[in-house]
Amino acid sequence: MKEISVNQDPAELRQMLDYLGVAAFVIDVVSANEFRLAAINARHEQFSGMKHNEVAGRSVDELLSPEMAANVKARYRRCVEGKAVTDYQETLDLPAGKTFWQTSLVPFLDETGKVTRLLGTANEISDQVHLELEARYQSTVMSAYLDESSDGILVVDANNKIKTWNRRFLEMWDIPEAVMGARDGDAALQAVVEQLEDPDSFVQRVKELYTFLGEEEHGVRITMKDGRVLERYSRGLHGPEGDYWGRIWFYRDVTELQRMTEKLVHMSQTDPLTGIVNRRVLMGQLKEEYGRARRYGHPLSVLMLDLDHFKQINDRHGHATGDMLLREFVRIVTPEIRASDCFARMGGEEFAILLPESSLGSARRLAERLCQVVATRTFDSPQGAFGVTVSIGVATLRDDDESPEHLINRADRCLYAAKSDGRNRVRPRGDSEDCAGQAPGLKPIIARH
Ligand code: GH3
Ligand code: MG
Ligand code: MG
Repeated sequence: MKEISVNQDPAELRQMLDYLGVAAFVIDVVSANEFRLAAINARHEQFSGMKHNEVAGRSVDELLSPEMAANVKARYRRCVEGKAVTDYQETLDLPAGKTFWQTSLVPFLDETGKVTRLLGTANEISDQVHLELEARYQSTVMSAYLDESSDGILVVDANNKIKTWNRRFLEMWDIPEAVMGARDGDAALQAVVEQLEDPDSFVQRVKELYTFLGEEEHGVRITMKDGRVLERYSRGLHGPEGDYWGRIWFYRDVTELQRMTEKLVHMSQTDPLTGIVNRRVLMGQLKEEYGRARRYGHPLSVLMLDLDHFKQINDRHGHATGDMLLREFVRIVTPEIRASDCFARMGGEEFAILLPESSLGSARRLAERLCQVVATRTFDSPQGAFGVTVSIGVATLRDDDESPEHLINRADRCLYAAKSDGRNRVRPRGDSEDCAGQAPGLKPIIARH
């Protein structure tokens, strides 16, 4: 390459450069601050978008922006002064766009030892740089997400080695640092299992997920010994060819959410004054029991109960005493019925008891007993001791009942009969199945709330 040091004309230089397999250029060193582009080859034209004929003989100050010119001149100067091959990476804003280059400068000296020319060879590395930048961008986003996420996150590779985890994961699971440091997935699982209510099903499921690589999990709830509830999400990680890379696990603390949900469900089902279930729960259970009784031909009875002259008690003893009486009534009745019976406050001073597997006879006997135990009790109030009675209507499912409502309506009619026959009593009387009175669908005279 000795010829490069002599003063060929640009066309000749260009021809020589074209023999090189990479983008190449020759720089004439005019002074420490002036460098002229003597030639570029076809490969250079292709990547840079410049044309040899247009740029040959022109100074880099003419060809490049002031900032870029200052940068390349500093590099040329380093090569000239060092009189040695100089390698560097550079970013150039060329007509073809922003490109990244790995460049090598070779100095050529004249007889006096002065550097007169530089031969540059450059490999375009834009694709590589873009990939690196993209990877760096992705990992920056990823680590920000890991840091800020309220989920505990763990990534395990195909050999069950822990790849990464976040701060939240460590806060959630009390795993010794040594275990995480050793990146041993099995040891971490062991540490986790000790904190669980039901370790066996946890381990079994985790093993399944490690066996069935494509399997995903969405929001399975896990209860911990300390009462916390976590939700688990998991999915396999796969490379572009579908090869298994490992698995990512997300744990979300839903303790508060679960507590609130349970509270809301409880509130929607419970009468706040007495603590027993409300009308909605009883109607739901009635529907279920109705279906079961119909399927198996089992008996099903219902009691409708209404406190007598409750308005007078309120008027005489005050609303607070009325409330106390409603609570006491529930305390008196509850021990008399089975756990499988459903005792509900239907509204105001009206209650119902659903009695699965009970015939009319046994339902009537229970109702009579309730009338008695309520009537024999006395209650205290600032206005003095007082008593209360209850009227009860009883009905049992009949073959011709077409819906649960028919059963309830008949019990209601019997309650109405008990009231109009003098209160503090049970209807129907004896073994007769029904009570004369209002037809179903008419509003009972007993106040409904
Ligand atoms: P009857 O023997 O015919 O059933 O007469 P009653 O007075 O019991 O029935 P009525 O429907 O005339 O009055 C019911 C009263 O119950 C009126 C209402 O103010 C009262 N009440 C309803 N809910 C509550 C409550 O939660 N607390 C109290 N203290 N009173 C209530
Ligand atoms: Mg009443
Ligand atoms: Mg009433």
